[in-house]
Amino acid sequence: MSEAFNVADIFGQDVFNDTVMQERLPKKVYKDLKKTIEEGKELDLATADVIAHEMKEWAIEKGATHYTHWFQPLTGVTAEKHDSFISAPMPSGKVLMSFSGKELIKGEPDASSFPSGGLRATFEARGYTAWDCTSPAFVRKDAAGATLCIPTAFCSYTGEALDQKTPLLRSMEAINIQALRLIRLFGNTTSRKVTPSVGPEQEYFLVDAKKFQQRKDLIYTGRTLFGAMPPKGQELDDHYFGTIRQRIAGFMRDVNIELWKVGVSSKTQHNEVAPAQHELAPIYAPANVAVDHNHLVMQTLKRVAGQHGMKCLLHEKPFAGVNGSGKHDNWSLTTDDGKNLLDPGKTPHENIQFLLVLTCILKAVDEHADLLRESAADPGNDHRLGANEAPPAIISVFLGDQLEDVIEQLVSTGEATHSLKGGKLETGVRTLPDLAKDATDRNRTSPFAFTGNKFEFRMVGSRDSVAGPNVVLNTIVAEAFSEACDVLENSDNFEMAVHDLIKKYATEHQKIIFNGNGYSDEWVKEAERRGLPNIRSMVEAIPALTTEKSVAMFEKFGVFTRAELESREEIKYENYAKAINIEARTMIDMASKQFLPAFIKYTRTLADTVIAVREAGADPSVQSDILNEVTVHLAETREALEKLKVVTEKAAAMAEGGDQARYYHSEVVPAMEALRAPVDTMEMIMDKDAWPMPSYGDLMFEV
Ligand code: ADP
Ligand code: MG
Repeated sequence: MSEAFNVADIFGQDVFNDTVMQERLPKKVYKDLKKTIEEGKELDLATADVIAHEMKEWAIEKGATHYTHWFQPLTGVTAEKHDSFISAPMPSGKVLMSFSGKELIKGEPDASSFPSGGLRATFEARGYTAWDCTSPAFVRKDAAGATLCIPTAFCSYTGEALDQKTPLLRSMEAINIQALRLIRLFGNTTSRKVTPSVGPEQEYFLVDAKKFQQRKDLIYTGRTLFGAMPPKGQELDDHYFGTIRQRIAGFMRDVNIELWKVGVSSKTQHNEVAPAQHELAPIYAPANVAVDHNHLVMQTLKRVAGQHGMKCLLHEKPFAGVNGSGKHDNWSLTTDDGKNLLDPGKTPHENIQFLLVLTCILKAVDEHADLLRESAADPGNDHRLGANEAPPAIISVFLGDQLEDVIEQLVSTGEATHSLKGGKLETGVRTLPDLAKDATDRNRTSPFAFTGNKFEFRMVGSRDSVAGPNVVLNTIVAEAFSEACDVLENSDNFEMAVHDLIKKYATEHQKIIFNGNGYSDEWVKEAERRGLPNIRSMVEAIPALTTEKSVAMFEKFGVFTRAELESREEIKYENYAKAINIEARTMIDMASKQFLPAFIKYTRTLADTVIAVREAGADPSVQSDILNEVTVHLAETREALEKLKVVTEKAAAMAEGGDQARYYHSEVVPAMEALRAPVDTMEMIMDKDAWPMPSYGDLMFEV
């Protein structure tokens, strides 16, 4: 066992957090910065200079030599450009360490190589990073030494968002304004801010690094493109919550230490459903901090895995036929004085407020199911959503028996007079239901489930940023709040008006509620009957971004302009096409250089055997049967390979955009599946020693 330590001592030790700021900054500067953080007040340059200086001194004490604006372009991963603190050498030949306020608040990376979806012509390469002072700076230590990382947003010269964070911050502002309006109506005059709280649960796989290195598919695409199922899969459910093996436990310990140091509150860890699959969940945080922290989690998982001779697979579907990985996005709304708007609450007025919040969310999810679905779309997630795995591609809301019953009563009689079992919460309004405290059982098959005092959006892919889904959630709920407030602010009788509105929303949007088994075929039919969209793939999901309904909403709340949405649509198509193109080319490479040669060699061995057996005077019919069978699969493989080459070349030659992406989806993906089939069949037939790479069993059961 390695040395014991106290978590409280190391937690946040490399973060420029409130304690450090209070200790190191002059009082006035600290106050100004807090104002900026809490109220968004602009920071003047003189104040920024003082903060930058102190931040630099602190970082240098931690061993930092460089600083970087850390941002999230639309590549899916974070980006950084490092600058050292040194100034130009003085006449004495020595250098000083310097870091100005200007350098802290604004950076100017060359933006031309980041996706912009046509927002920024290549000759106009200017892009700016701007300090997000609501997410604390931190010092990251790795092989490159120690670096001061400053979380930033990334915009074009003309202010258009080129990243995930800018729209996220805008959407947080939108929901803050609308949620404040709503709680004011219920007499809350003390809360000054409402922030979306987010807790993303990260799933991942670990495989041995040496085996990983022998698989080109894992190296180039992060998932296996070939592979027959091992004799044992996840059918025994013996891995889920099972005892964590020593090698993995050591890894998790180091991951936690690294995360705690940079202020990520890593909390829960356990084995997941599939062999070699695990999960890590931090304690929830304000949405933008949670997004930054989730990027840190993903990077730390990868880095520490390397130190333990393993590789961390963040792909949504590393292994066909085995459970994939998601990232459950837990979401709620918290006031600055600690109230959760999704908590059914203890006092009467809170309960009515809760029912309004709840029905507004039902309305938001029902009206914008297509956008939510789109926010979880990425090439890897196509293998999960709707593919007989958690969760289905159809958006529905799970409320649990009690709340569903309450809604049912409201809808059928206009008033709810009782609630199913459990301790009651009085609402104090005759026509509104009593709520039971202990809300619900769990439903693991629902894509959007109420879990006591938060919603859990379960569609998000394991590799994806949670920024996109939270931008959508914040904005659609802001819109619903805004519409409700428009009605209520103008009503003569507030109590009656709230009641009517709750009933109206419950009635109009009840169809989005589903408490049953989301994996069943009956649900697919039932959802169709209800008119709920079933968007099966990423390419079918993307158009949701730019419908008139979506543009109007995002523009109204200042989250995206039409141009920004169009650019994102373009980038998504490009990303999809590129991902499939890489997968197809990797398959072509593996089939041509590894599988076909191995099969040919194997037929040679079999042929030699047939001859030898016959010469020995025995009956070689079994051997020649196998030889014939193998030859058939060899021919199938070759034929499928040639077909895949043709469609991939054709796809790659097409102009970038929707048509190209759809072609990849409808022609290249099936051709890839057609090539995989005979290869997987051969894996079951051939001698293990003759197989050119580690098998599923080797990868999943020998970590
Ligand atoms: P599960 O049983 O759903 O797997 P976990 O404990 O793994 O639950 O993760 C739950 C996640 O939800 C954690 O990140 C937790 O901090 C977060 N969470 C808890 N309460 C809230 C809340 N009110 N708002 C947002 N997230 C929350
Ligand atoms: Mg969990």
